[in-house]
This record gives sequence, C-alpha cells and structure tokens, in this order.
Amino acid sequence: MSWLRRVLKLDAQQPETTPQRASDKKWPQMPTVKFDASLVTKKVKADLRENIDQLEDIPKKDRRSIYDAALSMIEAGGNMPLLYNPLLKLAGMSTSRAGEITRLLLFRAKAFTEQESRMRLGITHAVWMYANAPCIMNPGAPTDADLKQDAAHQAANGKKFEIAKGLKINGEWTLPGRGAGCKCVSRSVIPGL
Ligand SMILES: [Zn+2]
Repeated sequence: MSWLRRVLKLDAQQPETTPQRASDKKWPQMPTVKFDASLVTKKVKADLRENIDQLEDIPKKDRRSIYDAALSMIEAGGNMPLLYNPLLKLAGMSTSRAGEITRLLLFRAKAFTEQESRMRLGITHAVWMYANAPCIMNPGAPTDADLKQDAAHQAANGKKFEIAKGLKINGEWTLPGRGAGCKCVSRSVIPGL
C-alpha cells in the first residue's frame, strides 16, 4: 500500500468532524481542542430548557439545577459526568435512564453548536452520515416511531444538506443528533474540494 493510500485510508477511518458516538456504553472522547463556549447561543439554551421541561422523570423542583448541570456539561465541550452524576442523585433515577438523558441533552445541543461553528467558518453544506448504530433511544424495546426514525436516518446516509436548514426527514427539518436516540453525524463539505 502506498503512503498516499495509507494516509487516505487513515483519514477515512477518523474523519475530523466525526465525534465518536457508535458505542452507547462509553462516553465520547474528550475533545482535544478547547471548546468555544460562545457557541452555546441563546438558541441552544432555550432548546435545552425546552428539552428538560419535556422530561417527565425530572421533578419540576429539580429542573433548574439539572439545567445548570446540563449547561456546564455543554459549555465544557461535552463533559458528560457533569450532568450524569447530578441526575443519579434524583429520586428513582436509574443509571441507564441517567445515561439516556445525558446523551439526549448533549447530542441535541451539539447538533446546534456544531451548526453554529460551521456557519461561522463559512461552511454551508454537510453530508449526513448514519453511524451504523440504530437511531433508537432504547434498542431493546423500540417503538414504531423509533423504527421509522431509524429507517429514515439510514436512508439519509450520504445526503447533502444545507447546514442552516438541516435535512427534511419524515416531514420535519432536522440535524444529525437532534432526534431522540439519533447517533448520526455529518461531514462538512469544504467549498472547492
Ligand atoms: Zn440518526
């Protein structure tokens, strides 16, 4: 194998823009580059609040402290224990559910911070990449909606989309990582390449 092929092959295995999301059991690798907290815009914060309000297993009185913990996790570039540990202190919270909530809130926020980051860099388009892990919150007991989402995300693999808008899937505009249980990522399309 020539050096060029080796380099290209290595590059294909570890795309720079693809965070590790394939394994549900491990936390994503900590980013090596310091996360720019200014990417956590008003839109990200409003969305986070809304997502937490929709979680029926977080008591109303705890929502403020969970919001603060989730925000700290996001502003630290995805330091999951910052949210996971406080979640575990809530009454009746299982480790698996705490993990689900942590991933849900982080991936949803990351979809927006990544969108913001790319738009600031002048990148307008990306390609949707299905992570070969089911886009299902609880793969052991998928609902019809889960299966529908997963099939649609598999079909979206390789589709180019406008970063500002996202991709229309099952009638809704979305971004990789926004759907509950979605493990999809995307690759920036660099103009001129
Ligand atoms: Zn997905």
